[in-house]
Formats: sequence, C-alpha cells, structure tokens
Amino acid sequence: MRVLDDAPSLRVTVNGPCRLLPGGDRTAATTIQKFRWGLIQPTRDGLQAGRSAWTGRAGRQLQVVPTDDSVIFLNGVRYRGALTILRNNAGSLQVNNDVPLEQYLKGVVSREVDARWPMAALEAQAIVARTFTIRQVQDRAGQAFDVTMRWPQLYGGLQDERPRATQAVERTRGLVVTAGGRLVLTYYHTVCGGRTEDAEAVWPSVKSPALRSVECIYCRRAPHYRWSLAVSSEELAQALAGGGVDVGPLTDLQLGPRNRSGRVTTVTVIGLGGAATVSAVQLRAELGSNRLRSANCTVQPSGNDRWIFEGFGWGHGVGLCQWGASGLAQRRQTAQQILQFYYPGTEITTWPAS
Ligand SMILES: [Zn+2]
Repeated sequence: MRVLDDAPSLRVTVNGPCRLLPGGDRTAATTIQKFRWGLIQPTRDGLQAGRSAWTGRAGRQLQVVPTDDSVIFLNGVRYRGALTILRNNAGSLQVNNDVPLEQYLKGVVSREVDARWPMAALEAQAIVARTFTIRQVQDRAGQAFDVTMRWPQLYGGLQDERPRATQAVERTRGLVVTAGGRLVLTYYHTVCGGRTEDAEAVWPSVKSPALRSVECIYCRRAPHYRWSLAVSSEELAQALAGGGVDVGPLTDLQLGPRNRSGRVTTVTVIGLGGAATVSAVQLRAELGSNRLRSANCTVQPSGNDRWIFEGFGWGHGVGLCQWGASGLAQRRQTAQQILQFYYPGTEITTWPAS
C-alpha cells in the first residue's frame, strides 16, 4: 500500500529489532537491534540513511522489516508490517507499507465506521471491506496498481485501530460475500436515505443482481439522513464549466426524471448562453460529493441568485448502508442477516472458497 509519495526525505524509527534489505534482496539483509537513523534521503545516485549509503540497484529500494514485536514509525506515525522505501528516477521517495490483508482491514474498519457501533454492524463492515479489497485486487490482476490510504477504502494505519474494530475483523476472519461462487463487488456507502441504489444507475458497466436497490428504513437516525445545501448560481456555473459544460450565466435548473430508487437521473441547466443536460452523478462529482450529498434531492431557487438543494442520504447509495447496518444490528440482526439484506441472493463463505 502506498502511504507516501514524492517525499524529499523521511524519518523512520523502529523501536526494536528489524531487518534491512537494500535492493529488496534477502541475501543482503542485515539485522539491527534498533533503527534510529532518523533521516532517510536520496543521494545523487542512491539512498542514504544516517552513515549508510547504497548505490546502483541497492540504492533504488530499501525495505525495513520489523521483527519480534517491533513497531515502525514513519514521520512519527506508527505502521504495521514492513515499509519499502523506493527512490524514483527524479530523486524523490515513495513509501509502501507491506501489510497483510487481515491487518489492513483492522485499519479500514476503524476508519470507515464508529467502533462503538454494535458488533454485528462492525462484523458486516469487516466482511464487506475484505470482499471489496480481494475483488478489486482480483480485477486488476496483471496490472500495476497500489492500494493506498484512500483507495479502495479509507485506511488509518495502526494508530487508528480500535479494539472493537479489530475484534470484528478477527471474528470474521476470511469471511466474504459471494454470489454463484464469485466474490461480489461489495460497494457500500454512509447512509442511503431510505432506499439503496441499483449499481447500474451509478456505474452502467456494473451489472450484478446482488447490487440492486432495496428499501432501508434503518438509517433514519444518521446525521445526514436529511440535508440541505445552498449554492450560488456563479458557483454552479463554475462547477459545470470545470466538467466542460458552459451555458453562460445560469437562469434555471430543472431536475430530470427519477429512477426507481427515487434518485434524480439528470439535471438540465439553462443559462443565457444555452442549455445542457448532465447526469446527476456528474453534477455531484463537479460540485463535490460531500456537498451535494446524494442524488435523492430537490432544488428550489431562493433569491439572491442562490439555489437550495434538499435531500436524503449521503453517498452513491449502492450496496450496504453503513448507518442502516448499525440500525439493523440494534434490532439484533446478525452480520450475515445484515449482508443478505443489502446484497440480496448472496452467501457468506470462507475465502478462498473450498
Ligand atoms: Zn439506509
């Protein structure tokens, strides 16, 4: 997982024994009792850490592997597993955190949901995050890609782990959501606002019977179940122009038809320079999906060249509704029941499937 990019230098400390592998070469590994070199920086033709320096192949990559129970710190932040420091041709550094899947999930669950939620909701999140990660990696087999702190999910590292989230990962070890023996691309979102969305409505190429809209009455206590947003005409025009849509000064906004989940599909913008119709998905992307929280909304002019959007839910709405999962867990539903509600027709199995 890529945790740092394009750094001119970095500080690494390990609080106990560790192994150093210059060039990623196991035969060149050295074991040291404590790693307190502090500054690691690129040199003209390699890498330098304290008084040690490497050039050539060994100078392009340095792996730091904590042993025993040692913990590694990068720029003061704790990480699980090993760090690989890569020197690129431009002479800056990239750092990858080599962390096993089950450990990675502990940092995901604690970041994605509130670790104080009922255990069944945390377990459901752990299973969904595991399935999503394995499926994303599977889909990219043979391609170069990095799991990052933000992709495919938020990851907080060791300092963000919480005991109950860790417990949820351990209690569900290896469990995944499958349909017909295949991993489901288990999308999830913060709060659906009353009904989840068909995957195809957001990503036309994703066709899965497990990702179809279901009514959800369990997320009503979520902070963003209902929301409103005021936007000026100028700001709207600017956001649209960023996406290549230019209709001049805005005079009207008309919402297009709603799909079966109640979400607006298109928005027609009318300006002094013409009119254009954009998808609601695009409008959310242009305005910021954390501002225009969902496409389940209405819009009204409010004078002073402003528009008031009012809506339900936060996120694309596909798959598991995180606040709904918490509501279902409060109603004593198990993780399996929660998952089979949001991903209809699926099974919870152990991966790799035997
Ligand atoms: Zn919901």
